[in-house]
Amino acid sequence: MDFKNIIEYQKKDGELIKIERELSSNPSRKVSSEMISVVKSAQEKSAVLENNAGILEKDFHSVKKAYDETISQVEKFISKDLESLSQKDLESIISATNGILNNLNVLEKKLFAEAERLNITLNEFEAAKKQYGIARAKYNEHKKIYDEVLKSKEPEIKKIKMELLELEKGIEPKLLTKYKQLRQDKLFPVFVKLDDKSCGGCRMELSAAEIEKVKNNGYLECDNCRRIIIN
Ligand SMILES: [Zn+2]
Repeated sequence: MDFKNIIEYQKKDGELIKIERELSSNPSRKVSSEMISVVKSAQEKSAVLENNAGILEKDFHSVKKAYDETISQVEKFISKDLESLSQKDLESIISATNGILNNLNVLEKKLFAEAERLNITLNEFEAAKKQYGIARAKYNEHKKIYDEVLKSKEPEIKKIKMELLELEKGIEPKLLTKYKQLRQDKLFPVFVKLDDKSCGGCRMELSAAEIEKVKNNGYLECDNCRRIIIN
């Protein structure tokens, strides 16, 4: 089997891989994709907080209503003409008033606690909204930088791809399919030389029988890294 053309193809493809790696490790690309997840989680957080604030607000109002009702009960007692009441009535009013005052105390504490929780939630909501805005701006800024880099590389990528298509014509389809399969699995280079007694890709030492196979058949698929070892 003649590997000359596929090796030439692999060499050209290596230029494309180099550009692809440069692009995928581009700092602005990394920042903008990080910002996408920051924006997403800030959005989710604000939605949860907004919902919580709604629930807390409702709670606050129902406690407030109970509080106001209790206050008006107290006022009703106060407006009674105490002079005209019997001792027994007075005692029952005092005991009822004590009960109401206790209630009022409990409700007041609840009201403060609800107001405090509502405040905290609203502050958190504001903070999440602010974080969202910052992340969004950072995303736009870095996306623009990366898009410019990508655009500047496009003509070179296009040229290499055309050259690769041209080179494909001289390669056995079976070899090309195998190559593309391994390339897809992020193995590169796909075809490697036998390096003394080892695979030129992963450096695993081959057995005498395997070396014999490489020499007789011209190639062998490495047991360890799946690359094609050629003589
Ligand atoms: Zn190997």
